[in-house]
Parts: sequence; C-alpha cells; structure tokens
Amino acid sequence: NHRYVLIERPVNRSVQLTDFSLTTSPISELNSNEVLLKTLWLSLDPYMRGRMSAGKSYVQPVGIGEVMVGQGVAEVVKSNDPNIVPGQIVLADVGWQEYACLSSKDIIPIDNTNTSFPLSYYLGCLGMPGMTAYFALQEIGRPEKGETVLVSAASGAVGQIVGQIAKLKGCTVIGIAGGNEKCTYITKTLGFDSAIDYKNKSVKQLTNEIRHLAPNGINIYFDNVGGIIHDSAMLNLAIQGRVIICGVISTFDQLESVDNGPRWMRILLIKRALMQGFLVTDYEHRRNEFLNEMKSWLENGQLKYREDIAEGLQATPQAFIGMLQGKNHGKQLVRIAEQ
Ligand code: NDP
Repeated sequence: NHRYVLIERPVNRSVQLTDFSLTTSPISELNSNEVLLKTLWLSLDPYMRGRMSAGKSYVQPVGIGEVMVGQGVAEVVKSNDPNIVPGQIVLADVGWQEYACLSSKDIIPIDNTNTSFPLSYYLGCLGMPGMTAYFALQEIGRPEKGETVLVSAASGAVGQIVGQIAKLKGCTVIGIAGGNEKCTYITKTLGFDSAIDYKNKSVKQLTNEIRHLAPNGINIYFDNVGGIIHDSAMLNLAIQGRVIICGVISTFDQLESVDNGPRWMRILLIKRALMQGFLVTDYEHRRNEFLNEMKSWLENGQLKYREDIAEGLQATPQAFIGMLQGKNHGKQLVRIAEQ
C-alpha cells in the first residue's frame, strides 16, 4: 500500500513537496465490522492545509508521520460487515493512499444506480464542495430575486456552484477569480453576470471595481478567501447585507502570525449586516435533500461542473500545492485507480 505521510509542518510559509514523504505499508488484517477500501478518486481540498498546522482548529491536526487526510471515492474490496458487500462504491476518509482499512460505520454508500454521474462528482458538485455551496448560500445568504451576490474563488469547486445557484434564484452574480481564463469561464460558460480578475490589484482598485459593477451594493458576499478581497467586499456591503465566511485560503500561510481582530464592526453596524461562519459538517443530516435537488439541476442542464484531474497517487503533493496557488481550474481531484 503506497501512501503519503506528513513529515514537516509548514509554519508561516507555503507548503513544499518535501513536507510529504511517499512510504509503503502492509495492508492490515480486518477486525470485525471493518472494510478494506481501494481508493479510486482522491479529493484535494484547501482544508488540508489547515490540518498540516499544529494550531487549534475544529479538528485535530495530522500528526507527523501520519497519512495525510483526504476524502475519496473508493471500492469495497473486502468486508467484515455483513451489510456491506465487495464491489460497493462508497465515500470515505481514505487519506492520501491506495488502500484504507476503515470501520464500516465511517463510510457512506454511494447510490448512483438510477443515474450515471461520474463517480468523481461525489467529491465535487455532489459532495462536500457542492453541499457547502448549497447550504451556506441558501441558509445563511438567503438569496432573494433581484439581489446582487459576490463570490470569491469563483471558478473553484465551491464558487462555481455558488454562482450558478444564485443565478437559478434570480440574482445578479459577480465572481472574483485569478486570471483571464477563469473570468471568461465563469461569465461565458457558467452565465455569471460579470467577473473581476483580482490578481495584482490593491484593496482600493478592487473596491472600485466592485462598486462599478454593483453601484447599489452587495447583498450577499460568499467569502471563500478572506484577506484583501474580503476587505473590498466589506466596503461595498449593502444595507442588511449577509456575509458568509466559508474559507480563508488567502491567509493560510500566515495563520500562525496574523490576528486582525474584528475590523469590520462599524460596517456591520452601519449596514445592519450579518456575518456568519459556516461549516459543512453541520449539514450532514441534510445530504439527501441536497443530492436530490443538485442531481436534478445537473440532469436538466441547469448546472455545469468543471473538474481538474491529476493522474496517479504520486501526482498528489504537486496537485495539492498547485490548488493552493490557484493552478487548478475547477474541482481538484486525483485519479488513484480505475474501478
Ligand atoms: P477551489 O477549487 O476554489 O481552489 C482554491 C482556489 O483558491 C484556487 O484555485 C485559487 O483560485 C484561490 N486562491 C488561492 N489563493 C488565493 C488568494 N491568496 N486569494 C484569493 N484566492 C486564492 O477550492 P474550494 O472551492 O474547495 O474551496 C474554496 C474555499 O472554501 C476554501 O477557502 C475552503 O477552505 C473553503 N471551504 C469551506 C468549507 C466549509 O465548510 N466552511 C467546505 C469547503 C470549502 P484563483 O485562481 O481564483 O485565485
């Protein structure tokens, strides 16, 4: 069994290839109610950067020498649980490795029987990023027809769905993304109303560009990145605006040193705005509700989804670093093995 373990924590610096080491381990014997999984698809997500840091979060960090965490789509190859049969396709926290041995209570069977979605979709638009977009936008953002929605990391796994759901709800959508290609994709292919390329721009420039596109202000800011894009969005908030704090990817490499404090109290007050954090795990009990609606949007062609696929376990560290730097265009995945 080949796997990547964490050997060094990046402290106040970006992630490097040498933070990981490829090791081999024997496949362990199964205890009762355990299953052996073969990883088919591995999801690479920004939260993994947080798990590399020793600092406190909502979950434990990955220990030095431990397998890097990650969710995957996997096939059951052996089962000691009478209710799970070999051949079943499941969603599970397999980690960056080819095979994983897990308790059967920690796997989620995938039901793709009456549909023919690519299995990788269950890590993207039909998985964690999709659920994030779906619930955070609707439960915290509460979009109303005619409102203006701003979303950052707009062409990524979460962002591309946020914008498309907001369009389905009758909103005007502005996406912020890095570079021309991503901006063209979200407007021309996904139907966002406009896009802002944030690269090499100051808070002042970004603030002015948002103001130009949304002279009446932003009703909902879906924040995937934090940092100066957040600042520019806050300076354009409409009265009774809602700010969804979903991710802080732009601050990951300084998490150990930066503590900005609540800088935006006065704007929240003046605009009678709401700012709320979101964690997708709080919505696990509503997965089926999400799946039903998302599947029908995809089947009816109302929603599109772009993936960025790296090939083979050994491509994982580079693809992960690339994703943190914005080299991915669409949901970043690694194809570990064929079914
Ligand atoms: P993406 O597919 O959007 O990939 C990450 C993207 O972040 C990159 O492609 C890059 O796009 C952008 N980015 C990287 N660095 C910066 C920077 N300094 N400033 C602005 N943008 C940057 O990832 P996801 O869609 O999976 O995740 C998006 C966000 O949502 C992350 O912050 C993640 O942690 C968060 N998240 C939160 C969840 C929750 O429950 N709270 C669940 C899932 C995700 P570009 O080229 O446009 O810069």
